[in-house]
Amino acid sequence: IPVIAIVGRPNVGKSALFNKLSKRRLAIVHDQPGVTRDRLATECRATKSRALLIDTGGIGATLDDGFSEQVRAETEVAIQTADLILFILDGQEGPHPIDQTLAADLRQSGRPVRMVVNKIDESVHDRRVDEFAAMGFEDPIAVSAAHGRGFDHLVKEIDRILADQGVAVDRDKARDAEAEEDASKRPIQLAIVGKPNVGKSSMVNALLGDQRAIVSDVAGTTRDAFDVPFTFNEMDYTLIDTAGLRPRSRRDTSVEVFSAMRTESSIRRADICALVIDCSKGVTAQDRKIARIILDEGKPCFIVLNKFDLFHPDGEHRARMEEISEHVSRELFFLHYAPFVAVSAKTGEFLPRIFHTIDKIRGASKHKLGTGELNRLFKKAMAKNPPPLIGKKKRLKLLYVTMTKPERPTQIAAPTFVLFINNESLMSDSYQRYLENQIRDRLPYKGLPLNFVLRSRA
Ligand code: GDP
Repeated sequence: IPVIAIVGRPNVGKSALFNKLSKRRLAIVHDQPGVTRDRLATECRATKSRALLIDTGGIGATLDDGFSEQVRAETEVAIQTADLILFILDGQEGPHPIDQTLAADLRQSGRPVRMVVNKIDESVHDRRVDEFAAMGFEDPIAVSAAHGRGFDHLVKEIDRILADQGVAVDRDKARDAEAEEDASKRPIQLAIVGKPNVGKSSMVNALLGDQRAIVSDVAGTTRDAFDVPFTFNEMDYTLIDTAGLRPRSRRDTSVEVFSAMRTESSIRRADICALVIDCSKGVTAQDRKIARIILDEGKPCFIVLNKFDLFHPDGEHRARMEEISEHVSRELFFLHYAPFVAVSAKTGEFLPRIFHTIDKIRGASKHKLGTGELNRLFKKAMAKNPPPLIGKKKRLKLLYVTMTKPERPTQIAAPTFVLFINNESLMSDSYQRYLENQIRDRLPYKGLPLNFVLRSRA
């Protein structure tokens, strides 16, 4: 990360510029001798490029040889550490002997230096900048830290210089990359949900295998301990709220009573939900209710058809299994984005499919789409099947589509499309579903709900 140092003799307005560049709210007067300096470096938040702003005034603050020597010592530190030195001067006072000394030191160092002439509060003062030309640095930047004059220019110049030096890193991009990295280190929050008796706890026990001991040990001690960490194929997971998933004999009734509420909160906290269905029984209203919550929360999801051992895919069973899949897709049609995984918690057969599915969905959530491509996709879908006229002569018009980032960094983010349209009321549910299906057909978003946000721009 590039370092920018602000140097200059006392009272030229270093701290005011320091505060403006770091966008700090509190102005602490640094230039007065003896004022404690508690911070040496801060982020330069005003620039596009990432940079560290250092306050050399905080170093070697107690030299006995007087001001000039102290400032020189500070400048020496700047020379040694900074990628760019901002040499601050007082435009109202004009050149000062200390300035001349510093200028000589800076020139000799050969470091990149920009003169910043401060206190040029009005355009009539602009000519004062010329007085500093003799110091030997080109293009002094005239600013007024107090009034903000010239500040934008200064910021642009800093960005330009850092870019020229090849040390510029876009701060927003760096932050996004960091957030993503953080998110990719977090365990995947997995909620296994479903009505009683579909085999959730059998599944949890089978999944955890050797790690199961941890569950019985910690579950029930504290609320957080109900979330159980485990690892599969070097991927970290957190199984959300295992308290409701313990073997029947060890559940207490209070847990059962609250199970509906718990299901809801588990879904809300999850990165991804596994909705377990007993494929020997078929879908009931209770399954649909849970599916509905997953949909409403906009969560990535897959459907686990458990007790597959009862229907091995040979002979008549194969036909029966197809029948069941059809039945489940029909009954849970609104959760159409969720892929199916058939497993047997009892025999442990095909359980790794669960993790393969999560992996695939996670991979899909990383799929990036350029704005141009995205807009072409939507326009094409709308041309193919134009939105219907609503009322007399009104028709939905799409101005622009963009994708947004998830609010909190998460392992598996559902794609969110922001549609700028002429009028929100012209988007019908069925047309939105049509668009969603069109987009889904063309993009690999299996397991992910597509969230649409509508913005009117008449
Ligand atoms: P939960 O209420 O969803 O946690 O369900 P349980 O895990 O307690 O299982 C309910 C019943 O289904 C138990 O009798 C299990 O032995 C049985 N079960 C669970 N998974 C399977 C499976 O894959 N195949 C078969 N045949 N039975 C299963």
